[in-house]
Amino acid sequence: MMQNLTNEVAKRRTFAIISHPDAGKTTITEQLLLFGGVIREAGTVKAKKSGHFATSDWMDIEKKRGISVTSSVMQFEYQGKRINILDTPGHEDFSEDTYRTLMAVDAAVMVIDSAKGIEPQTKKLFKVVKKRGIPIFTFMNKLDRDGREPLDLIAELEDLLGIEGVAMNWPIGMGKGLKGLYDIANHRIELYRAEAADKYLELDEDGRLSEDNPLTKESIYDDTLGDIELLHEAGNTFDAAKVAVGDQTPVFFGSALTNFGVETFLEQYVKIAPSPDSHEVTLANDDKEELAADDEQFAGFVFKIQANMNPAHRDRIAFVRICSGEFEKGIDVTLARTGKSIRLNNATEFMSSERVQVSNAVAGDIVGLYDTGNFQIGDSIYSGKRKVEFQELPQFTPELFMQVTAKNVMKQKSFHKGMQQLVQEGAVQLYRNYQTDDYILGAVGQLQFEVFQYRMLNEYNSEVVMTPIGSRVARWIDQSQLDPKMSSSRNLLVKDRFDQPLFLFENQFALRWFADKYPDVQLHAKL
Ligand code: GDP
Repeated sequence: MMQNLTNEVAKRRTFAIISHPDAGKTTITEQLLLFGGVIREAGTVKAKKSGHFATSDWMDIEKKRGISVTSSVMQFEYQGKRINILDTPGHEDFSEDTYRTLMAVDAAVMVIDSAKGIEPQTKKLFKVVKKRGIPIFTFMNKLDRDGREPLDLIAELEDLLGIEGVAMNWPIGMGKGLKGLYDIANHRIELYRAEAADKYLELDEDGRLSEDNPLTKESIYDDTLGDIELLHEAGNTFDAAKVAVGDQTPVFFGSALTNFGVETFLEQYVKIAPSPDSHEVTLANDDKEELAADDEQFAGFVFKIQANMNPAHRDRIAFVRICSGEFEKGIDVTLARTGKSIRLNNATEFMSSERVQVSNAVAGDIVGLYDTGNFQIGDSIYSGKRKVEFQELPQFTPELFMQVTAKNVMKQKSFHKGMQQLVQEGAVQLYRNYQTDDYILGAVGQLQFEVFQYRMLNEYNSEVVMTPIGSRVARWIDQSQLDPKMSSSRNLLVKDRFDQPLFLFENQFALRWFADKYPDVQLHAKL
């Protein structure tokens, strides 16, 4: 057992980066990994090019990244802290995956393109994080380009997201006129594109440079001092309690591409970002309790399952967020859903570009368990006798549906295997026609189907034929109220993977028509 679990847990910083595509998430992640010594040169985390996000990119990105899909979790040490960055897929069709990952972090970093401000995907993801009540940090990126006024960007946080922004540093100029950052938190000026030795300039007690510095002769310097004064008088003041619950966001400026301001951000981040907090759990008697992160009992939940991370090994990994205690190789745990006891001999952590066997993982860390089919997304596991179950992960009701069959009837085996595994991963949802048992897939976005098809072929050598059913409104019906005769082409009757019946209505109109015809039947939007 670890000597001082409390101290170890306090070192953890586990977060995800949320942003709209192209805001610079990949570029920043790469810079952070550089500081963490995980990669040695930029370009290792292959950025997807702007524009269309094609299906083939999905796998190509993962391949070219080198750190591969393991980049789902990136772990490194920085200034005595252990950082875990959980990657979230950028495309909105994979929002389900992203939302689940956001349940496994202790904070979020929101990257905003300073020329574009808050974009739709950022707003959506922000809402999810906000609901969790965890700290949110903001990085205003692309300062090397002409962007919007910094004051304007801060105001937008409040206007569009309803969160107070508190500036930790402030740009001195922008675009071609970018001179540096006025670093409020560190009481210094950081020069843009300066040699390391001349990078930082001291500020006097009044927050000014000494008069003989050439920067003081430039008008942008006076403008910046004017802004700083305005921030002092009218801006928000840093309030740790507000930050902790996500009512205030510390704002950092920088340019990830030119590696400016990212390390300054990281330094502050490890200081003020939270270490793992307690989690609410349900006990065997249905009582709720807060399970402290440094409780000796090991407990965690599966937030992601990924098959074939390494096609050569055909493995399947369940990602577990440790919420309390310490993970040790060979630990015996109980799977709360089934009560089954499992010895965890084979686990991996995600330090650096290699997957390595777990040495010491504690609350806040993520471990990958080699899985032979024991785990499902959302599963809780725990050591010892006391049963603990974590909150359910959010479930999405699919809106798009496809009928799917194997092209080659001789290859049913690989078809079924691929289907089963990808469904367990949560890549798509599986339904079956109530009468014919035909497979029907459900997804939130079209791209999920395309990736499914691509992966079936590449990972399971199974060519699938997909017939679009189109957009449908899914409604569950109680088994006792079901009469198969209620089904028609406008409300297709299917069953989900728990064999629960539901109708896929052609549209809202068909749903209303049904409700009028069967007023006593209760329909539910979720299982
Ligand atoms: P993601 O989609 O959020 O992961 O964004 P990327 O990191 O892939 O960046 C999208 C594009 O913006 C790429 O062409 C980057 O080179 C570029 N980019 C990222 N950060 C900056 C920056 O600070 N300044 C400029 N000018 N471009 C940037």
